[in-house]
Amino acid sequence: MRILLLGAPGAGKGCQAKKLAAKYRIPQISTGDLLRNAVNSGSPIGLQAKAIMESGQLVPDDIVLNIIKNRLQEPDALSGFILDGFPRNETQALALDTLLTKMQTPFETAILIDVKDDILIQRIVGRESCGDCGQIFNLFSSPPKKDHICDSCGGTLIHRADDNGETIRNRLVVYHSQTEPLINYYQHQHKLLKINGTGKIEDIFLVMSDILNEKEIH
Ligand code: AMP
Repeated sequence: MRILLLGAPGAGKGCQAKKLAAKYRIPQISTGDLLRNAVNSGSPIGLQAKAIMESGQLVPDDIVLNIIKNRLQEPDALSGFILDGFPRNETQALALDTLLTKMQTPFETAILIDVKDDILIQRIVGRESCGDCGQIFNLFSSPPKKDHICDSCGGTLIHRADDNGETIRNRLVVYHSQTEPLINYYQHQHKLLKINGTGKIEDIFLVMSDILNEKEIH
């Protein structure tokens, strides 16, 4: 399976990507996670990306493209991948097409997880994720059993620095202006599938799994 998940911040891409990755035993490749790792490690790329990420803008294409190119060529990605948060604009989409054509591994489908902005904001404000295993919780809709402790591994839950009011609004503006045009881009390629991203995580996952089965994508 080689797919990508499209959708606004808070649409549930990370959550659904993790579930797909576990089911199909292929990696979830999140440029947001890769960039956060770079920031946490204090690497030169991380130093460049930190302030941009905190402001909710997009990190320059050359940095992201370099990261994704290296990641897609790692052995675990050769049997498939779920791209989460990449591409985020048309330049990145074109570069991805070129790269995957060169690797002779075109991706099969782009799944748009559709959620309205007012719901997204509430989801993002309440979001916490485990610093150890990456499990995502929401203080309003799916809280952990113990405050700030991961139900799955006991790790400490972290609220992302860019999950605050002002940055969220910037991220939504960036999404609507730069990433949303990719819906048309993939529609033209006949690769777009759209699912409703409101409701229970498990139900959305079932819908997505059914669609993938129907399309014989595994
Ligand atoms: P995410 O975890 O996907 O919400 O990404 C968090 C932040 O990382 C974004 O707001 C951007 O600043 C940056 N980022 C993630 N993916 C990309 C990308 N494909 N292109 C540019 N910036 C990105």
